[in-house]
Amino acid sequence: MKKVVVLGGGIAGAEAAIALRKEGFQVKLVSDRDSLFVYPISIWIPTGEKSPEDVQIPLKNIADAHGFEVEIDKVVSISGKEFYYETEKKGKQTDFDYMVIALGQTKLKHKGIENTLSVCGSPKEIIEIKNRLENLINQGSGKIAFGFGGNPKAPEAVRGGPVFEVMFNIHNHLKKLGVRDKFEITFFAPMPKPGARLGEKALKMMDMMFKNMNIKKITGKKIKEFTPSSVILEDDSIIEADLIVFTPAGDGHPVIKNSDLPQTETGFLKIEDTCQVKGFENIYAIGDSASIEGPDWRAKQGHLAEVMARATAHNIAIKEGLKTGKPEGYKEHINIMCLMDTGNGGALAYRSDKKAMLVPMPIVGHLMKKAWGVYYKLYKLGKIPRLI
Ligand SMILES: Cc1cc2nc3c(=O)[nH]c(=O)nc-3n(C[C@H](O)[C@H](O)[C@H](O)COP(=O)(O)OP(=O)(O)OC[C@H]3O[C@@H](n4cnc5c(N)ncnc54)[C@H](O)[C@@H]3O)c2cc1C
Repeated sequence: MKKVVVLGGGIAGAEAAIALRKEGFQVKLVSDRDSLFVYPISIWIPTGEKSPEDVQIPLKNIADAHGFEVEIDKVVSISGKEFYYETEKKGKQTDFDYMVIALGQTKLKHKGIENTLSVCGSPKEIIEIKNRLENLINQGSGKIAFGFGGNPKAPEAVRGGPVFEVMFNIHNHLKKLGVRDKFEITFFAPMPKPGARLGEKALKMMDMMFKNMNIKKITGKKIKEFTPSSVILEDDSIIEADLIVFTPAGDGHPVIKNSDLPQTETGFLKIEDTCQVKGFENIYAIGDSASIEGPDWRAKQGHLAEVMARATAHNIAIKEGLKTGKPEGYKEHINIMCLMDTGNGGALAYRSDKKAMLVPMPIVGHLMKKAWGVYYKLYKLGKIPRLI
């Protein structure tokens, strides 16, 4: 049986390990975390609707359900030419036939970034947002600034959706507690039209939501620096804040940047439509680690990471003669599909070459996202088949 090693145990890596097992490979997954962190439902941690445990699935349980091996270890280097990966505990590893890289991405570093907390960071960081918010609520008032940054070299790595979700959720949480009027909420972003990839209509709708929720918006000004109590913008104007929730745009993973594999200026791996790393027959890259080629509104998303994972398993199986058929590509599946939660409802954001829409879904949107979280866990634990 051919051996495949999957590096990274996030949304892409876990799905790849499951799909590769289904194709009949011997699979080992290496992850520095012992759980799969389900980012899309972690947006409810700051308001206490979900606990950190609720949004994590132990990788061992996924592995036991699907029959692959898990090793908790940190990958420290990869070589394409010498075909090895190296980990902190075990050193150089060469005993595999295929390598699937699913290490995710890191974030650009802004001056004073240590004064901010991101909704897209480690589980620890999102718990810290919850604690800081609770402190402010106990104090009785406060100023909260929410924002996300851009990366002109990799626009697909900009992650705005979850920032909007956490901001709308916190607005509604404060409203429920009857203290919203004691809080000043400001949204900031360096691009003139944040969220523009969802289309003009969506932008208008978002503007309306900002107005209705009394959220101040400052956009189109580059971020100069963060201090413990403010955001300083390029024109030296200042946003005062007791809590700064900021998500920088994505940057390439250091292990990839230091490797001999083909990568973009930002450090994302260059791949073929089949997810094979360009020029390397037996190495594939999926999810946020890979450079996504396509329309200018494209975005790195969990559902695309899973499409890439399944396409990779299918394509390796064809290469190995385990099945016949055409190789599958990821590009035809590029779209933006996201149920943007607001805490009391949601909106379905969808973008393809033909359509751009944001459909309001009061109440039901929130329940649908919750239901997706339940489905995702059950599927990953092998308790129900994949539905979507
Ligand atoms: C808050 C939030 C909400 C989101 N909401 C949505 C949504 O509603 N819909 C949607 O489609 N997408 C959403 N996304 C995007 C989606 O979560 C990502 O695109 C997806 O997680 C990418 O999967 P990945 O496996 O490539 O990366 P990750 O999920 O980041 O996984 C990378 C994995 O690699 C591991 N790793 C990293 N470095 C090492 C190392 N050196 N050695 C070993 N292991 C390592 C990490 O521990 C992690 O387990 C959201 C993202 C965030 C942050």
